[in-house]
Amino acid sequence: MLTVDSFVQFVEAYHERLRALTDLLNVLDNRIGDGDHGTNMARGFDAAVKKLHQSSLGDLGMSCSTLAMTLISTVGGASGPLYGTAFLKLSTVWKGLKSVDGDSLRRGLTASLEGIQARGKAVPGDKTMVDVWYAMTSYLHQNDPFSSEVWNQAVETAQQAAVETKDKIAKKGRASYLGTRSVGVCDPGSVSSAVLFEELIHSFTGGALRLEWETLALY
Ligand code: ADP
Ligand code: MG
Repeated sequence: MLTVDSFVQFVEAYHERLRALTDLLNVLDNRIGDGDHGTNMARGFDAAVKKLHQSSLGDLGMSCSTLAMTLISTVGGASGPLYGTAFLKLSTVWKGLKSVDGDSLRRGLTASLEGIQARGKAVPGDKTMVDVWYAMTSYLHQNDPFSSEVWNQAVETAQQAAVETKDKIAKKGRASYLGTRSVGVCDPGSVSSAVLFEELIHSFTGGALRLEWETLALY
C-alpha cells in the first residue's frame, strides 16, 4: 500500500539518493550530454520536498500533481517536463485516492510511461528513460498477481535496463547528437529512473534491492 505519508517519504528518500548520486549522474551526462542531469534532479526534488511539506495534501492525486508542478518549474532540461508529465499522469489515475494498491500502482506507472512517450517521442531501445519505464511496466503486465517478489523483480528488471543502455546508440535527446559515440556510457535519465523505482517500490512494499550505482562500471 502507498499512502500520502508514504508517498512523501518516497520523495524524501529519492531526494537523499539524488543528493548522493548527483556527481555520478552529472558525470554520465557530461560524457554524452551537457553534464547537468544530477544537478537538475537534486534541485527539483529539493524544491519538491519543501513544497510537499508546505502543502496540505488531501489525497495521492494532489500529492502527485504538487510534485509534478514543482518538477516542471524547477528541474529544467529535457528531464523536467518528462518527469513532470510522469507524475501528472499518476495524479490523474490516483485522483481522490488516499491509498493505492498494486493494481493502481501498475495502472499509474503505465499511464506515466504513455505520457513520457507522448511528450518525448522515444521508443524502448532509444537509450532514454523510456527504456527503464518500459522494462518496469512490462514486467508488471507479465507478472500478475503482485507478490513482493514480483515488485522486487520488476525493480531488478528496471535496474538491468538502465545498465544495458550503456551499449545502446542514443536516438533521442542531447546524447543522440553523438550518434555511435554515445555507446559506452549509461544514459543518466535511465539511471535516475531506476533509482526512482528502487525508492518508490521500497516505500510501497518495504523491500526492493538498492544498487550501489557508484561501484558499477556505468561508463
Ligand atoms: P538535458 O538533456 O536537457 O540537459 P537532463 O540532462 O536533465 O536534460 O536529462 C537528460 C535525460 O533526459 C536523458 O538521459 C534521457 O534519459 C532523458 N531524455 C532526453 N530526451 C528524451 C526524450 N525525447 N524522451 C525520453 N527521455 C528523454
Ligand atoms: Mg543534461
